[in-house]
Amino acid sequence: MSYVGPDFEPPRPPRRPLRGPLTVAVAALVPGALVGWLAWQTVGDSGGDESAAQTSSSSSSSGRSATLGSSDDGKEQPGGGTDRTGDGDEPGGSPSASAPAASGPLKGKVVVIDPGHNSGNFQHTSEINQKVNIGTNWKECDTTGTSTNDGYTEAKFTLDVARRMRAILEEEGATVKFTQDGDRAWGPCVDERAEIGNKAKADAVVSIHADGSGAGNRGFHVILPGPVHSGAADTRPIVASSRDLGEHVAGRFLRVTGSAPSNYIGDGTGLDVRTDLGGLNLSTVPKVFIECGNMRDSTDAAQLTSGAWRQKAAQGISEGIVSFLHG
Ligand code: ZN
Repeated sequence: MSYVGPDFEPPRPPRRPLRGPLTVAVAALVPGALVGWLAWQTVGDSGGDESAAQTSSSSSSSGRSATLGSSDDGKEQPGGGTDRTGDGDEPGGSPSASAPAASGPLKGKVVVIDPGHNSGNFQHTSEINQKVNIGTNWKECDTTGTSTNDGYTEAKFTLDVARRMRAILEEEGATVKFTQDGDRAWGPCVDERAEIGNKAKADAVVSIHADGSGAGNRGFHVILPGPVHSGAADTRPIVASSRDLGEHVAGRFLRVTGSAPSNYIGDGTGLDVRTDLGGLNLSTVPKVFIECGNMRDSTDAAQLTSGAWRQKAAQGISEGIVSFLHG
């Protein structure tokens, strides 16, 4: 989650909906957002030129990583302990680790899904506050994650989307591994999350999150690793492939969910480059984070708490992975 407030990052106009007085107020700024949206349409079409097109449209975000505070490794406030349980939106697929399909387009491919945070982290603050080395510096082992104002936690959201993705990707023949499956008391720490993907020799890793920014900040963004070479961290070999993965994920996520790219991070591209996240810094395989929406915005929260929407989110991310792996 982040605390990128209006003081630092004036909200940009959402692609839609535009309603009421805002329509007039932001009309002059819409073309900028539209450029990003059109870029995603290109990516979603899986044409041969999407990399160049996207790089061009998103390059302005790459230099901003150091000042952006959207930190899933950063301090996050508890969800209030009122995690909603009765939404009746359990994933259609079983959470069990079923055997991969015998065949399918992703046969032989390994996908690691990293459900951000852990519902147990709220009860294990001393453990998750331990510092771990992420190459560039030391950071908290893990964080609690954010929640909606009604107490639906990010940890519950991420695990739900991850399980839906597993069902989809296994149907495609992929071998799917999780960093945690609601089967441990807390964590794992961010360094271990990275190590799980590395040891699996994953062809792609996606870390699932939802942001905790200010009301009015809306939309999704995909976080890409920037070049880091310090201590145990060396992302240089995965920067390009991770961007490719991230562009595919963002494009398909946009197409399937209909959500707009973030109006507060990434200049309308839905992409952000960061060098401060241990889960990315320590990865040796293509990896991205996705912030699916802003839990602290009521409009985004209405989507994030909907099982039907989470299914779309899972479908979009999964399609992006499939598209990347077929590249
Ligand atoms: Zn998070």
